[in-house]
Amino acid sequence: MSKIKIAELFYSVQGEGRYMGVPSVFLRVFGCNFKCAGFGMPRGELSNEADNIDATKYTEYKSLPLVSTGCDSYASWDPRFKHLSPVLSSDSIADAIMATLPHKTWKDEHLVITGGEPLLGWQRSYPDLLDNLKMFGLKEITFETNGTQALSAEFKKYLQEWSRWYHREITFSVSAKLPCSGEKWEDAICPEVVVDYQSVGTTYLKFVVANEQDVADAECAVGAYRAAGFTGHVYLMPVGGVESVYVLNNKNVALEAMKRGWRYSDRLQVPLFKNEWGT
Ligand code: SF4
Repeated sequence: MSKIKIAELFYSVQGEGRYMGVPSVFLRVFGCNFKCAGFGMPRGELSNEADNIDATKYTEYKSLPLVSTGCDSYASWDPRFKHLSPVLSSDSIADAIMATLPHKTWKDEHLVITGGEPLLGWQRSYPDLLDNLKMFGLKEITFETNGTQALSAEFKKYLQEWSRWYHREITFSVSAKLPCSGEKWEDAICPEVVVDYQSVGTTYLKFVVANEQDVADAECAVGAYRAAGFTGHVYLMPVGGVESVYVLNNKNVALEAMKRGWRYSDRLQVPLFKNEWGT
């Protein structure tokens, strides 16, 4: 039976993108190929906010401090926090997912597989989880990915088969990382990888932006994705893991999205739940 290292598993409403407001189970898997230490920092500077957290003091996820700079889910990939993420069998994960559902059976809930970066090595393990009988009533899945990891031929075929049955739907919410993340353009903007997701499901781009330079970078990235054959929607979303940062620019981001005929994505988890762990 396959196993996956799980950073968080919780039930909430999706706060971002296409499924905003939809009741959702979030499966946050461990591991990421990026650090995104540039978020919330002046251009060219990297945050050390999470580096200064003493991981040995914490025994559970929900007591970890929130950060206002860098990756807001740092504990889902930083090895110093790996003791908080158990390795669970697909059967245990399916049981835990069912336990979070209000009716203990699938109704209109959707599954979000997020991270970290969920399309790293765990691609091999998802079929075992999704084939579990308890997961049978699930109709919609979103992979929240940074868009750098190609689907393996086996997993792509599996997902195409999965969505062919019972009106099931797969979405790739691609949060491509712009230079404001601190990651290098050539590592982060991978148009061919993202275009390939379109052969499996609905694929859209979601850019986290804080200022005009970020929006200009998003335009440049969209040009590269379109040139490679990307046909999906584009969302702009304000930066801000904490409310004080988020409210500074959400209206401006909406206006910038409107100017370009792009979509605005809120981050409902910030005003609703203050972006606490497990939301
Ligand atoms: S890609 Fe996502 S999870 Fe990974 S470091 Fe960046 S913001 Fe964090």
